[in-house]
Amino acid sequence: MIYADYNGSSQPNPAVKEYLSTRFTEGPFANPNAIHSMGQKINLTIAKCRKLLSEILGCKSNQLIFNSGASEGISNVFFSALEQTDKKTIIISSIEHSAVINAAKFYQNKGFKLEIAPVNQDGVLNLSELKNLLEKNKNDIALVSIMAANNETGVVQPFKEIGELVHQYDGLYFSDTTQYIGKTDFKFNESNIDLAVTSSHKVGGIIGSGAILIKEPTKFLPLIFGGGQESGLRGGTQNYLGIETMAVALNSFNENLHKLNECLERRLNFEKEIKEIYPNVVIVGDGAERLATTTLIAYPGIHGQAVQIELESQDIFVTTSSACSDNEPNTSKVLKAMGIEDNVGRSVVRISLCWGQKPDSYKKIVTALDNAYKKLSQLKSF
Ligand code: PLP
Repeated sequence: MIYADYNGSSQPNPAVKEYLSTRFTEGPFANPNAIHSMGQKINLTIAKCRKLLSEILGCKSNQLIFNSGASEGISNVFFSALEQTDKKTIIISSIEHSAVINAAKFYQNKGFKLEIAPVNQDGVLNLSELKNLLEKNKNDIALVSIMAANNETGVVQPFKEIGELVHQYDGLYFSDTTQYIGKTDFKFNESNIDLAVTSSHKVGGIIGSGAILIKEPTKFLPLIFGGGQESGLRGGTQNYLGIETMAVALNSFNENLHKLNECLERRLNFEKEIKEIYPNVVIVGDGAERLATTTLIAYPGIHGQAVQIELESQDIFVTTSSACSDNEPNTSKVLKAMGIEDNVGRSVVRISLCWGQKPDSYKKIVTALDNAYKKLSQLKSF
């Protein structure tokens, strides 16, 4: 079996599985905010996880707030930024995840002006168009939200340049780093990003926990009030098992950073090989810098869902696009924003592996794709 949907949700990292089997046997299980020794032991473990994660992610311990995952983090960022400002303009890119789009639309309905910054054909943000939008809305920029790496295409955005530009206009820059963290080395305080998010189930930990990285925590407004946990910035009893697994997973990633080059090389070889067999195949975002483990591939005219089913019959699990748009047989919003035609947009499947992939995974995927394309090209779905 090859699980190739890590961008959707990762399999737990082997170190996490090992950690949890001991953790479940030995405990402790208690409220980390309790004063008894069991609670305090967990509290200490959370503090250690925070320290370790802040070192890995290049921020200070007090800049990292645990929560339930990226969707909560994104909602909180919009809430914190937009409930405390008189400025009225939000700028988001045309390729954001629905968690950002829906937060932005919510505030648009409350009277904010929403501007969309376009990307070029490779899926990379058009910096001069962003500059035009910033200039047009000068002195009124409440929040700019432009992701670091796209979940569908893996295309990496120039977030350092974006941050620099946004700051020239005195704006606040949030970057949805959900797909970037755990797939590339990321150092928050060197990134020019004011607010970032991560999610345990995208980095090899278990589902249901995550974190927000906040440049200026004293200015941050909590979305969940609760009982003062997380320095009053996120109420609710901490999901300590989730936090622990996120720390174990990202620590394992950090110790294996050297493997990313190998992953990239394998991905490039795979893409070259499949294009040699099928020259008409399209690799979306081909010309841009992309995550080392993501390929969005299309055989124009063959429906992505048909390819996905064929691959699944060969024990390979991929998606057609992001999980949220899987039920829509049409070209995704992200691909439309890149100007991709329907004959390619409807044909895509996303192959997303992890840094700990087996060396022969792509070889098996080439064989399976070859079988699928051979069979389906005779039928041609549309
Ligand atoms: N942002 C991006 C880019 C994502 O890919 C996802 C997950 O699909 C999310 C946000 C939401 O993450 P979570 O599942 O942690 O809420």
